[in-house]
Amino acid sequence: MTVTQETSSPTEVLVVGAGPTGLFLALLLARLGVSVRVVDSAGAPGTTSRALAVQARTLELYRQVDLADEVVRRGLVLRALNLWRRGERAERIELATVGKGQTPFPFGVIFPQDEHERLLVERLEAAGVGVERRTEVTSIDAGPGDERVVARLRAPDGSNATCEARYVAGCDGARSTVRRAIEAGFPGGTYSHLFYVADVVAQGAAVNGELHVLLDDAGFLGLFPLAGTGRARLVGTIRDDAAGPGALLRWEHVDRRPIERIGIQVEHVNWFSTYHVHHRVADRFRRDRVFLLGDAAHVHSPVGGQGMNTGLGDAMNLAWKLAAVLGGRAHADLLDTYEPERIAFARRLVATTDRVFQAASKDGRFARMLRTEVAPRVVAAISHTEMGRLAFFRLLSQTGIEYRASTWSSGRNGKLHGGDRLPWAPPASPGAPDNFTPLRSLDWQAHVYGEPDAGVRAACDSRRLPLHAFAFDARARASGLAKDAVYVVRPDGYLGAVLDAAGAAARVPEYLDRHGIRTRC
Ligand SMILES: Cc1cc2nc3c(=O)[nH]c(=O)nc-3n(C[C@H](O)[C@H](O)[C@H](O)COP(=O)(O)OP(=O)(O)OC[C@H]3O[C@@H](n4cnc5c(N)ncnc54)[C@H](O)[C@@H]3O)c2cc1C
Repeated sequence: MTVTQETSSPTEVLVVGAGPTGLFLALLLARLGVSVRVVDSAGAPGTTSRALAVQARTLELYRQVDLADEVVRRGLVLRALNLWRRGERAERIELATVGKGQTPFPFGVIFPQDEHERLLVERLEAAGVGVERRTEVTSIDAGPGDERVVARLRAPDGSNATCEARYVAGCDGARSTVRRAIEAGFPGGTYSHLFYVADVVAQGAAVNGELHVLLDDAGFLGLFPLAGTGRARLVGTIRDDAAGPGALLRWEHVDRRPIERIGIQVEHVNWFSTYHVHHRVADRFRRDRVFLLGDAAHVHSPVGGQGMNTGLGDAMNLAWKLAAVLGGRAHADLLDTYEPERIAFARRLVATTDRVFQAASKDGRFARMLRTEVAPRVVAAISHTEMGRLAFFRLLSQTGIEYRASTWSSGRNGKLHGGDRLPWAPPASPGAPDNFTPLRSLDWQAHVYGEPDAGVRAACDSRRLPLHAFAFDARARASGLAKDAVYVVRPDGYLGAVLDAAGAAARVPEYLDRHGIRTRC
């Protein structure tokens, strides 16, 4: 039996999958006034900790929807990274302040994925959207006149239903049905080593609220701190002699030598899981009205804690674009920018994590030498220079992501190009509003650091483009912002256009007209 579900308002966006990516996308769409439906085949949200790290760029995006403070409050600020070699701590890199002056959140936060998803669900429900559980998307077809997409659903009682939507967002994880439905390939590979993750209660000097990584001939081990006395997450390899096909693996099969090398005693294992690490990027992130985001679009090793954060970044990138096109506030080609902006980053990320992961996990004398002798020295050299620390932070925190090559990015002034993330200019005093405060509107805006001229004011007024003027002080200068230049800022905090003060009065409307941009106000 096929039943078309009647809903009070037609669905504009169907979000398939209520993992972190789908939940954040739905929350953003709801805040932007889009009618959204979220379905998930699972009966309940995940109950295991999986992705732990919430990076600074994610916190910046979360600040736009008042989520960041809560994540920082409930999570654990990552204070330091320790590198171990031959049973000794070879290096300690301060992480709590490594990005000082770059972002309101100069650190990463440990916040287990199950708690994270619960928080997103709470906020989504507060925005009036519930997740429809035990509802699986089985296929997707083009709708009548190609104006809509029709998704076939299996409802909780096993009956079939359809959902017509203007757009479908496939946030349905690594084994994505939506990816298959749009016939996107998922090229890449799988590493041969079998890895484990375990949430444990342990004792030892390394269980100290800091991150520890063992680069050693005894093997690879990562220890992540968790909130609560003695709690930690271990990531390591399974003994080769235990990891045969079909083997039922338990904690007993874990390679103990790396654990002994960092001197911890595991007293209790709360959660244990094994996994093969994949590195794959979908060969397209969109077909017509259907998009792929998160693990449905890219998977890679957990090295660097980037996976979930990248999905959350996809969600922000797509949400405001869908809302603008659905609301007639931008030309439809805005949606064409999603794939090139996000696929370029996903490919770079997968290539980088692949290289690091290979170095950390490969067998053989040369690989061992690289791991135990070369890598610690390189990391030490990087961490001892200001420039090295900054580059490391920009990479890890995802604050270095830019969309300069995008067709919607234009202009340049000094170091800043269209497509760059709006640099953070720290506030005059702690707690005072800063230049990220207006990004809470999730709308286009213009920024000037200095004195906007009357022509610029009039141009922005005539287009209802909110103009925010900030002092051009030492903090703004240090952030790379130029005096009196006009920055047209996208709703996701990236620069659409960077315009010199001279001529900006004409170029602001020109940029808005070229793309059909209207603000929500
Ligand atoms: C054991 C384990 C450990 C991990 N450790 C880390 C880590 O340490 N660091 C890190 O960064 N990442 C880690 N990850 C990866 C991280 O969990 C993912 O990157 C993250 O969950 C991706 O979020 P997502 O929302 O894109 O997809 P998912 O979280 O996979 O969510 C997809 C959702 O879609 C639903 N779904 C699937 N198919 C359908 C369908 N046809 N119809 C409707 N709903 C559907 C699923 O039920 C699921 O809820 C780990 C993953 C696992 C499994």
